[in-house]
Amino acid sequence: KMAAPGARVIVTAERQARALIAVASGKGGVGKSTLAANLAIGLARAGRRVGLVDADIYGPSQPRLMKVEGTRPDAIEKQLIPVATPHGVPILSMGQLVAPDQAIAWRGPMAAGALGQLVEGAWGAADTLILDLPPGTGDVQLTMIQKYRPAGAVIVSTPQDLALIDARRAIDLFAKAGIPIIGLVENMAGYACPHCGTVSDPFGRGGAEAAAAELNIPFLGRVPLDIAIRTASDAGEPPAARDDDRIFAPIAAQVAGWL
Ligand code: ADP
Repeated sequence: KMAAPGARVIVTAERQARALIAVASGKGGVGKSTLAANLAIGLARAGRRVGLVDADIYGPSQPRLMKVEGTRPDAIEKQLIPVATPHGVPILSMGQLVAPDQAIAWRGPMAAGALGQLVEGAWGAADTLILDLPPGTGDVQLTMIQKYRPAGAVIVSTPQDLALIDARRAIDLFAKAGIPIIGLVENMAGYACPHCGTVSDPFGRGGAEAAAAELNIPFLGRVPLDIAIRTASDAGEPPAARDDDRIFAPIAAQVAGWL
């Protein structure tokens, strides 16, 4: 009977020592999951012990990004065991909790309960958990903020998304809850020519940086719209896993510096 309370104390201390970093966006399709995967890998390469929680109920894409599509986590006494990936970042995903190809029609409380199972998985020695949130400002976000209080949030937007106010709403959600915004990443910023690599700016340049300055949050950098990022992601080989990555490593370094 004496062991149980002691064990609980260890779990609590472990949880406090572990930084939960939320990756959020105002709407879907802006590259939030892509950034979360690359940030997790980048931080792991920078020496952190990182776990990745895929809480995106609308499109849990981390199993594919991290090359463990179709895997299921084991459980010990109802606690989920994160699945190891080739990128040194174990994951738990909403997508692993439902049958493949099954449409996910989560009710709010169900999604919030599932989030708990993922965050409270057997993360062991992980010192950092990257949390890929669903887009927007729904039940999963509220549970995450109220129950798990992330150390900080990284916001992802496209140049147009920022102009369209959605990203500001996501920023506002964290700001109102007193959760620090680590910074803003602009994705699909400019177009990288697949032939010569030159980046052009069909949507103009500097908008997100200006918006970050206006909102008084750090600007962490821009990621160009590059077909190589899409194909690498689909193949389960995020660019951050490559030694020659020059795009995500500086972003991960800034987050590592913040931690
Ligand atoms: P979200 O999580 O915001 O819904 P995803 O990360 O799933 O968005 O990205 C949506 C799609 O866009 C994916 O097919 C992804 O590979 C692609 N994508 C994301 N960022 C880029 C980029 N910078 N260049 C090219 N394709 C990208």
